[in-house]
Amino acid sequence: MTKELIEKSKKHLWLPFTQMKDYDENPLIIESGNGIKVKDIYGKEYYDGFSSVWLNVHGHRKKELDNAIKKQLEKIAHSTLLGMTNVPATELAEKLIEITPEKLTRVFYSDSGAEAMEIALKMAFQYWKNIGKPEKKKFIAMQNGYHGDTIGAVSVGSIDLYHHVYGPLMFESFKSPIPYVYHSESGDPAQCRDECLVALEQLLIKNHQEIAALSIESMVQGAAGMIIMPEGFLAGVRELCTKYDVLMIVDEVATGFGRTGKMFACEHEGVQPDLMAAGKGITGGYLPIAATFTTEEIYMAFYDDYEKLKTLFHGHSYTGNQLGCAVAIENLRLFECEKIVEQVAEKAEDLQLLLHELQPLPHVGDIRKLGFMCGIELVHSKETKEAFSAKKRVGYHVTLKMRELGMLTRPLGDVIVFMPPLVSTREELKEMVAIMKEAIIEVTNEVTRAEV
Ligand SMILES: *Cc1c(COP(=O)(O)O)cnc(C)c1O
Repeated sequence: MTKELIEKSKKHLWLPFTQMKDYDENPLIIESGNGIKVKDIYGKEYYDGFSSVWLNVHGHRKKELDNAIKKQLEKIAHSTLLGMTNVPATELAEKLIEITPEKLTRVFYSDSGAEAMEIALKMAFQYWKNIGKPEKKKFIAMQNGYHGDTIGAVSVGSIDLYHHVYGPLMFESFKSPIPYVYHSESGDPAQCRDECLVALEQLLIKNHQEIAALSIESMVQGAAGMIIMPEGFLAGVRELCTKYDVLMIVDEVATGFGRTGKMFACEHEGVQPDLMAAGKGITGGYLPIAATFTTEEIYMAFYDDYEKLKTLFHGHSYTGNQLGCAVAIENLRLFECEKIVEQVAEKAEDLQLLLHELQPLPHVGDIRKLGFMCGIELVHSKETKEAFSAKKRVGYHVTLKMRELGMLTRPLGDVIVFMPPLVSTREELKEMVAIMKEAIIEVTNEVTRAEV
């Protein structure tokens, strides 16, 4: 039975962001989950060390979330949001607007983070058109940015490995540098920040008349390798956007819903975006709901008699799905009554100490972390910060070793991602860090031994 299932998976599936040759060599089929662990079809258990790719909040099979879906199922599973709404989508909208930054008063639903970003881009583009400034139609993308895998989201992304191949399909955008303190010449966060802000201002001075919006991840560039922005950077970008009349699209898909120790990461800098994308943790990691938030000012630029053709011509079949919205409402209720955000902020300090124990390891170059969003950058040489040869796939092999030891995550190159569910206890965090440590030691030893 299990063997058959593996054969079936190899025969018919094509998995996202996966070289299928790798999958065929190391197949894995998850059958169930409980708390912060998942179990495969052989009964082997794994810590969900990456929250099932950055989603999970309360663990798996959280009773309250399961029940919220069951209860909604007794009424209806789905009806459309085109031209009408439904009960949970409406209730959820009010609750979301309560917790998002003050200036954001409107929510537009979709099903994934990438779509939430596409919608933000279209809103920004059409906003200027609707108010009579159609010349503002280009975008600024941040170096190393990642906003999802659809063509629009990729066009404002800038990770060569993922994006280069699709270059000819993308619309062009301006690129602005991002402070990557660990690999900077000075190593000084403030200097790094200032240099990047100066470069952005130069770009804006020259081109702002044709720029609709700038898109930026909030505080942490996740997919680029958990690169944390120095204090003052996001606020500085906000100031420049305001000064040069460019909309600011903040991507909170990874960072939103408590992940960094605030409900939304832009709160760390008191930043009010003009548009904001959220997804991932919005349903506690249960169902595909995403949201694009915007201000009343932008919303009103689309509000007119139909013949003016100012409508936002965008929508998806499953937009506002009732089951998803019902579980999102329960997720937000749990955030409040279990004080999830406060818990993350507190436990993040313990996590800092635990991760600190990895720092002396000979190939641990940099440990970056904001709340429960962590990346451990492995390097060949700590002195020169020289990377391992990409061919060795050190990060990949470390995560395979971790799998063997009972924990799942995915690497970003040679950066090991650690993003446990937000309810992970101190004891669980400790066990997960111990697994990472063992895997890092074993694999880097093997790799360096093979070199001599
Ligand atoms: C995951 C992610 C996305 C894309 O979300 P999907 O739901 O996978 O489409 C967009 N932006 C950021 C910052 C992300 O981490």
